[in-house]
Amino acid sequence: MPYHIAVGALLVECNHFGGIPTGLESFKRTQYLEGSELLALQEGTLGGYFEVLNGLPADYEVVPTLAATACPGGLVTDKAYGHIKSRILESIRDAMVAGKLDGVLLALHGSAASESCYDLEGDLLQEVRSLVGPTVPVVATLDLHAHITEDMIGNSDVLIAWETYPHRDARETGMRGAQAIVDILSGQLSPAMAMGIAPVLVGAINGTTEGGGPFAETMNLAKRLELREDVYSTSAFLVHPYLDAPAMGGGGLVVTNGDQLLADQLAREIAEFYWQQRFDLEPELFEIDQAIQFGLANDGPVVLVETADCCGGGAAGDSVQLLPSLIDLGDDVPSVIPVVDQAAAAQCHAAGKGSIVTLQLGHQHDIQWGAPVQLEVEIVRLTDGCFTYEGGIWDGCEGHMGPSAVVKVAGVFICIASFPTYEWCGEQYPSLGIDVAAMKFIVAKNPMNYLMAFEHCSQLFLVLDTRGPTPASCRHLPYSQTVRPAFPWDPHLDDPVRILN
Ligand SMILES: [Zn+2]
Repeated sequence: MPYHIAVGALLVECNHFGGIPTGLESFKRTQYLEGSELLALQEGTLGGYFEVLNGLPADYEVVPTLAATACPGGLVTDKAYGHIKSRILESIRDAMVAGKLDGVLLALHGSAASESCYDLEGDLLQEVRSLVGPTVPVVATLDLHAHITEDMIGNSDVLIAWETYPHRDARETGMRGAQAIVDILSGQLSPAMAMGIAPVLVGAINGTTEGGGPFAETMNLAKRLELREDVYSTSAFLVHPYLDAPAMGGGGLVVTNGDQLLADQLAREIAEFYWQQRFDLEPELFEIDQAIQFGLANDGPVVLVETADCCGGGAAGDSVQLLPSLIDLGDDVPSVIPVVDQAAAAQCHAAGKGSIVTLQLGHQHDIQWGAPVQLEVEIVRLTDGCFTYEGGIWDGCEGHMGPSAVVKVAGVFICIASFPTYEWCGEQYPSLGIDVAAMKFIVAKNPMNYLMAFEHCSQLFLVLDTRGPTPASCRHLPYSQTVRPAFPWDPHLDDPVRILN
């Protein structure tokens, strides 16, 4: 009899401070696969699961449940989460009734939240655990921007996170997760797990795992510890700080083969090292006009990083805070900026290419961070908003901005999309016919991937101190849950690290 492994995915990163609510249609626009539809996946985390499980001769059989992935956004609606959760649980229950359930393997993000639950993964894992009981192994893979909670640790046997940011290793992490469940079922692994949390709430600007830098060094430490004979796996976390949940922080998660004390000790070591990096994790910021003047004084294209409006962090992408300053530069300074505005995109499509229209643009989806601007624009180009990701965790997948338009006012090209999309390597701009190398100012609305997207044409990247639900510094975010004591508000703490096990 083969071992039967239930496989599912719920992958979305959520934002409590803004963004567009994540309903079922958001998942259906990205990835929503039921039952045997999952089995066709060859890439991503599930592709990694299947490569391991299918590669073991006749010993393992996949029980597909549901795979739901959405672009980061606002909270998952209770209706959508209820639906997704019940489909996953029903599939597992059916497998149990048929006597075909030996383990559960879930691809989760770790920073999802619904309207009424700020620890969606903890809730899902708790429901899975109470359904399958204490002896069936439950393994989950996570984004390294996960918020690790007691419910997640307490209701899973092994948690393993991506090791790279920019994220490139979803498939490899999937393979590691599947191997963990195989090792448990074959009796080679009796996991003991601990998470060390240091209360550091910072944006992701200095959070790369590549080269040096504060989070790269934290990851390097975790991976050095993983080489030890008595350690099964280690993960390092830089928590997605745009959740409004209690006791958030980053640090290290360690799985050993049965040695809880060692897991606790090494998790603490990683978290304490991470805490020491805290000052280097806060970025240098520029005011808008300061950045523009600095950019004008330098040759070549300049990337203005408006991370406060990052669709990849759950923002709506509809900020126009930068627009007036770019328009003021006149016809001779070309620049490009993306704005999500479904009504404006529809208005442009109705008017047609070459038309002149007056738009009320921006802050239509998430109205709390600014006011729309009224602009008379020329419609330069209209598209269906489809593009293909090249590389990373979404390599080869199609992105859907929905009906989109490029409009021009003064020297500014405004790329208007109907829906937010994750920014990986700047694929959206060329798909809309924009040559970024011809621009003086390129607006990037993400905290990290702009580096690889625009390094071919720019050497100057200026991070802006703008308002929005995904700001470069968390200092002014209106948290309502108990996040303190935490950096940056409390920079010196005697005993900052907390252990979950
Ligand atoms: Zn992430």
